[in-house]
Amino acid sequence: MTTTIPIPVHDRLYIGGQWIQPIGDETIDVVNPYTEEVIASIPAGTAADVDRAVAAARAAFPSWAATSVEQRAALLDAVAERLSERGDELAAVITSELGTPIGLSRLIQVGLPTMSFATMRGLLDELTLEEEVGNSLVVREPLGVVAAIAPWNYPLHQIAAKVAPALAAGCTVVLKPSEVTPLSAFALAEIFDEVGIPPGVINLVTGYGQVVGEAMIGHADVDMVTFTGSEGVGRHIGEVAGRNLVPAALELGGKSACIVLDDADMELAIIACLTRCLLNSGQTCIALTRLIVPRERVPEAEAIATAVAEAHKLGDPFDPATQLGPLVSAQQRDRVREWIRRGTQEGARLVTGGAEQPAGLSHGYFVAPTVFSDVRSDMPIAQEEIFGPVLSIIAYDGEEDAIRIANDSRFGLSGAVWSGHEGHALSVARRIRTGQVDINGGAFNPCAPFGGVDCSGHGRELGTHGLEEFFYLKSIQR
Ligand code: NAD
Repeated sequence: MTTTIPIPVHDRLYIGGQWIQPIGDETIDVVNPYTEEVIASIPAGTAADVDRAVAAARAAFPSWAATSVEQRAALLDAVAERLSERGDELAAVITSELGTPIGLSRLIQVGLPTMSFATMRGLLDELTLEEEVGNSLVVREPLGVVAAIAPWNYPLHQIAAKVAPALAAGCTVVLKPSEVTPLSAFALAEIFDEVGIPPGVINLVTGYGQVVGEAMIGHADVDMVTFTGSEGVGRHIGEVAGRNLVPAALELGGKSACIVLDDADMELAIIACLTRCLLNSGQTCIALTRLIVPRERVPEAEAIATAVAEAHKLGDPFDPATQLGPLVSAQQRDRVREWIRRGTQEGARLVTGGAEQPAGLSHGYFVAPTVFSDVRSDMPIAQEEIFGPVLSIIAYDGEEDAIRIANDSRFGLSGAVWSGHEGHALSVARRIRTGQVDINGGAFNPCAPFGGVDCSGHGRELGTHGLEEFFYLKSIQR
């Protein structure tokens, strides 16, 4: 079985429609988290590279903004088609750099971004680009040069959720993927080149956040920043963008709650919650990591959660039978293990899993699916984003208490409510302060607005609402 695939040499940046030599010669290694081997290296770009990329994007903006909706949609359709053709290869690339099990990579890591590009034509049709308001003609104008900065956990999806609508709107883009999982971004740039996107409309600069990211967010010629990543970096980007009076869309972390009401099917609810908690080894911003159950049913919840967690098969992410791959890096694994130790020290009870290397796995940055019970809402493990396969069970006394606990978080990204009656679940869902909430296992909708409130950030991605972020409104009176 394959445990890795050959990765082409990536020693250039894509700027102004050409693969050009970076100005510096520093590189960054990309590590396969299952084999723990270096599989590729990428340029560590510099502020001077960002200057070149922003200049190219600025130069390309007037003519790209002047293209017709039809022209832009046709190019984005062509990108979707090529992504689809290269789907198996891209899934293998992402599995190699991130450790997502191969089936999930194909379905989510590649399937979702392909859809993001493919749906742009329809979304442009749905969006009102011009409307009459009294004696005004109100028109949507593309914002300009967009700095797009992505995280490592859904590398291609996060890029597509920014780049597809930005380009559809008529903006030009400087893209920085995560330095941890940058490889699919190179394939995407190749695809843009093949389909004939005009030079400078999309530019790729790889490198560290502190260098390339900083140069992008503070650049005087950038008109908008769109960022997905951690709360701390998000706050910093918000400050810099605020100083420059540039809009910033910030998609940050979460600590999402799953409330199981007393009339719910407990087994169904817990299986669904744990599945969402463990997806991508828990490295999912909308992971449901707080399971809120009636106090008297905690033992039952623990038993179901333990059975589900222990049934998960860990191993080689290229093995189709594997359900849980490694975490992305040794650093991330160590961070998550430290949280598990801390949970026990704080007085939470470890029900299954733990901080040790799971049995039978001699290599790979694995963490066993871990469940804590006797968790109080004020414990740090119930408040901080762990970003690993760790679930906290929290007991509630009455529905008001359940809602209070769900809202006892500085984050507000996702959530879930389970009940035997949809109306009951809906009434509770309305009272959770969060950007999205699923009732009784409602499926992820890639056309619904996606984003958070409070420390989960602001701005929306996906669907028409995500597209709207890349325009400003101009009123022309007559
Ligand atoms: P991160 O904040 O460390 O890095 C994200 C990106 O920002 C990377 O490309 C990084 O290089 C760059 N960066 C770092 N410092 C920067 C700086 N000073 N200026 C500009 N750019 C900088 O996050 P991560 O570890 O890559 O991703 C995990 C985090 O992302 C988690 O907190 C997760 O919840 C969050 N996330 C949120 C969503 C969402 O949609 N809300 C989706 C996925 C991930």
